[in-house]
Amino acid sequence: MKVIPIRSEDNPLARLMAGDAPAPAPGPLVDRLGRAVHDLRISVTDRCNFRCVYCMPRSVFGKDYPFLPRAELLSFEEITRIVRLFAARGVRKIRITGGEPLLRKHLENLVEQLAAIGGLELTLTTNGVLLPRMAQTLKDAGLDRVTVSLDAIDDATFRRMNDADYPVASVLKGIEAAEAAGLAPVKINMVVKRGMNDHGVVDLARHFRGSGHIVRFIEFMDVGSSNGWKMDAVVPSREIIERIGAEFPLEQIDPNYTGEVAERWRYADGSGEIGVISSVTQAFCSTCTRIRLSTEGKLYTCLFADSGHDLRDLLRGDASDAELDRAIAAVWHARSDRYSEIRTANTARAHKIEMSYIGG
Ligand code: SAM
Ligand code: SF4
Ligand code: SF4
Repeated sequence: MKVIPIRSEDNPLARLMAGDAPAPAPGPLVDRLGRAVHDLRISVTDRCNFRCVYCMPRSVFGKDYPFLPRAELLSFEEITRIVRLFAARGVRKIRITGGEPLLRKHLENLVEQLAAIGGLELTLTTNGVLLPRMAQTLKDAGLDRVTVSLDAIDDATFRRMNDADYPVASVLKGIEAAEAAGLAPVKINMVVKRGMNDHGVVDLARHFRGSGHIVRFIEFMDVGSSNGWKMDAVVPSREIIERIGAEFPLEQIDPNYTGEVAERWRYADGSGEIGVISSVTQAFCSTCTRIRLSTEGKLYTCLFADSGHDLRDLLRGDASDAELDRAIAAVWHARSDRYSEIRTANTARAHKIEMSYIGG
């Protein structure tokens, strides 16, 4: 077997692969808690044109922030090679994210390469402002669906949330462009932070009711170490359902599939559906089938991980596909993450990876 160019002291993957473990059996990968890998989220940039207060606070991500240099980023070819290996291991759903993924030049080329693998559902999460110029190109390249983040329908609140002076209208134009390109229904993500934008929950629901788009209200999470997260700022999903339900009666509906992150509710009058993502108050780790690939090629088995497993050294060394596959299998087989189920003030990790780096 070839010598793999990674150093064990700074790479947990080297420790996992130490020794001469037999090659993993072909087929879907299952972790230590019996969860099969199904979704891969790929961050294509750590940069963003927004400075959302809960994700990239300007006080931390200022003009001197050391974003990754170009050479550190995985190329589209490197990403595609990893995705092909994951597809052979049971991954069926790909989400391209960031940072702001539409800032990555010629993203459509990546979408095209991933679409050529076949059998994958290709989705993208974006703040939406660049969709008017890119939605059709991405659709033509093979993108299936898009999720657009929008934290308020009221302009002043939205500008306070994104802290980069983008108006609501710029995101609404992006949603319209996605719809016109055939990327509908669009999912719209609102992160709810108490005291910042929670007063606008019902207004946002009202705005999109009857549009065919699906708004999902997300509990503010303690991702990363820079967003000043406090439990008091989390608005539990129950409260969101109560507030919206008081104006528009709601009925809970079945998930589309096991392990779906959002709990689904529909308006009793048939005017559409909404979702709530209760990552803090009702953890869903037991069905978590997601793995994340960071901008610079590290695999993270949990959103709240404090370290990743570097694949880039393998990719840029002379590792064969079989060796890369063995590394991927080692990472997933060793996985036992369930941070949200065991989160307490005392267990909150000090050095978690930032959301803008790992991808949402
Ligand atoms: N820039 C793109 C966007 O905002 O849609 C993609 C990347 S962003 C990190 C992915 C998703 O994570 C967004 O919907 C964002 O609102 C969500 N997010 C970021 N920080 C969060 C936090 N602390 N708690 C909950 N959701 C968060
Ligand atoms: Fe940028 Fe998305 Fe984070 Fe907002 S949530 S700062 S748009 S990466
Ligand atoms: Fe998955 Fe980690 Fe989130 Fe649990 S805390 S649902 S394991 S990403």
